[in-house]
Order: sequence, then structure tokens, then C-alpha cells
Amino acid sequence: MANQYDLIVRQAQLRGNAGTLVDIGILGGKIAEIAETIPTSAPVEVQAGGKLVTESFVNTHLHLCKVYTLQMMDEQALKDYHGADMGKAMTAIELAARVKESYDESWIIENVRRAMREAVRFGCTHIRAFADVDSKARLEGVKALIRAREEFKGVVDLQVVAFAQDGVVREPGAKDLMHQAMELGADVAGGIPWIEYTDADIAEHVRVIFDLAQEFDKDVSMLVDDAGDPGLRSLENMAVETIKRGWTGRSLAHHARAMALYPTPYFQKVAALMKKAQMGVVSDPHTGPLHARVRELLAENVLVCLGQDDISDAYYPFGRNNMLEVAFLACHLLWMTTASDMETLYDMVTVKAAQAMGIKDFGLKVGATANLVVLKESSVLEALRSHEAPQAVISHGKLVEQQAIAAVV
Ligand SMILES: [Zn+2]
Repeated sequence: MANQYDLIVRQAQLRGNAGTLVDIGILGGKIAEIAETIPTSAPVEVQAGGKLVTESFVNTHLHLCKVYTLQMMDEQALKDYHGADMGKAMTAIELAARVKESYDESWIIENVRRAMREAVRFGCTHIRAFADVDSKARLEGVKALIRAREEFKGVVDLQVVAFAQDGVVREPGAKDLMHQAMELGADVAGGIPWIEYTDADIAEHVRVIFDLAQEFDKDVSMLVDDAGDPGLRSLENMAVETIKRGWTGRSLAHHARAMALYPTPYFQKVAALMKKAQMGVVSDPHTGPLHARVRELLAENVLVCLGQDDISDAYYPFGRNNMLEVAFLACHLLWMTTASDMETLYDMVTVKAAQAMGIKDFGLKVGATANLVVLKESSVLEALRSHEAPQAVISHGKLVEQQAIAAVV
């Protein structure tokens, strides 16, 4: 019989289906059939051998232009950001900005490729990647990330965020540079409103970023309330602006660490606004001592997912684009240790993360794009325990040849 499929994954254990193994037939980049046995053969076959097969991993938050810059820094920024009360988070960002004085696409791209190869190895097929845009970084980070987006297309999909890390009101020229970054081809308009000096400036920052998003018809990502100050209100501001502009479902909040300190009635108000705005939040509890109130947000049915945030930069010394490792760390830091908690965490680095990034047709179901990992373990518990690289990665219906990727870029 002629080949009906381009690729077949044999004897896959799916989540929530313990004891039953299936074959997955893939054709034209899509999942075409899931059945106990597919009788035909395919030119490429992957033997899962009863191990877990799931959607591939999705990283909703990574400062990709800064990866592996830790060695270029002294450790003061790290100390200030991680101070127990996060009171010096703004100082930390100012210290970390020093590295950008030597920003140049030519060395940034080498670091970016290294982090992207790690993503390939760990089955992370989609990343929302932030590139600093300000008077020091200029457009060097954006250029490097756009180049990487083209190099890794179809293997690891990058959404490049033009990110006004040092503000748009307090930072001279940032507004124009952000506009240029969007013209260059950035996919998302990114801000950090809480970094501004006054409430009026915070509101202006939010407006500027939404203006850009509207002008270029792009989604919005903003780092909000990322310091140990319970009075920060930029998350609320962002949610309200999302609703006012009709940008519902197109904006994503990141960090929101001050939420841990919000008075509960205020937290409830913000959670209601987030739902109305269909705005998710990305938490990364391993990169700071405070974190968003993940459990309570989940209880309120707000979209929550996890991000890697940093890889060896001024804010965090580790990181490998390994989203199982991120989920493993979150498991401890959020005390989400029951079987059902672990399933939730797994969703937060796969399907929920894809939803947060607006990725269409993502899921392990017939008709969806075949973005899959074949793990070395048989259950979510074991996968989190070992957080090892998958035995095989399938991106857009094609088996990813790890060595080929390493040789090309
Ligand atoms: Zn971040």
C-alpha cells in the first residue's frame, strides 16, 4: 500500500489515557489520524515504545537578546533584583542596562543561536522572545532576533517582541526606536510601564505601546508591577486599556510580582478585569522572590502560563529553554505537588502557553499542526521528575534532526 502519511509515531502513551497506546499519523504538517493501530507504513517512523507523547513545549517569555551575558556583568544587578523584598528591582534594571553599551548584533546572534539550539534539544518549538529597544541597545537586539526567527523557521517559531525595557517616557528616543523596531518586522509591541517615574507616565507608557500595536495590528506583551511595591497599578492599567481599545485576547501580562502583595479585594478586582480583557499572565517564579498569585488566578479561571524569563543574564544565572525544568521549579515554588497540580503545570508550558501566544491549531488532536515531543518517560510525574530532553521532537509535522540544526547554525 502506498504511504498514506509522511510520519507515524508508534505506540504513544497520551496524557490522561494510561494503559492505552496509540499510533499518530501525520500528513502535510498536520495530525491526520490517531488510532490504536495504523496499518500502513510511512517514510519516517518514530517508536515511542509506550512513552509519553504530548504537545511540544512553548516558552511565553524569554529575554532572548540578553542570554549568556551574565559573564559580562558584575553581580550587583542580580543581588538587587533578588533582594528579599524586591525593593531595588528598578536599580537592578538600571545596573543591568550597562551591558547594552556594547550591544552589537554580531555577538548577540551567537548567544541567541546557542539558546535556540537548547530550545530544539528540549522540544520547545515556540518562544515569545523579548529584544530590548532603547538608546543603548538601539535596534541591535531586534535585528539579531529577527535573523534567528528566519534561521529557525519551522523548527522553533519565534515571536519577536520589541521591548522598551528602559521606558518610553523617561528614556529619550525610545518611542522612535520602538516605531522603527515594529517597521523592521517585530511581531509584538512590548512595554514595561511600571518602570516610569509617575502614575501619569505609567499611563502614557501603556498608551504609547497600544498605539504601536494598533498601528501595526500586533499583539501586546508588557512586564507589569515587577517590584516589591503593593501600590503598583500597571497591571490594572494594562487590562483597562486592553478593554478600551478592543484588544481583548491580544494582550499578555508578564511577571506581575507585586500581585503577591496586593490587598485581596484589589486582587479580586484586577482578576475580574483580566478575565474581561481575556488577558493572561506569564509567571516565572524561579527568577524572583515574589510571584503572581498563580493558584488564586487559576481558581478565578484566568489564563496562566509559565515562562523561562532569563538564561544566564543579570537577573538569573541558569536556564536552558527547558520548559519541563521550569515547570519542575514552579512545582516547588508554587507548592503545586498533587497529580492534578502537575497536569495543570504541564498545560502551563504547552497548551495554555500556546493559547497565551495566540498560536492557532495547537494541540494533540486530529487537524492540529503536529508539534509534538516523544519523551523518555511514561507519565507527567516522571517527566517532571527527570526533566530530561525528549527522545524525539516533531515540529510542524517534521522530525527535528538535532545534529543537522547544530551543524547549520
Ligand atoms: Zn522577564
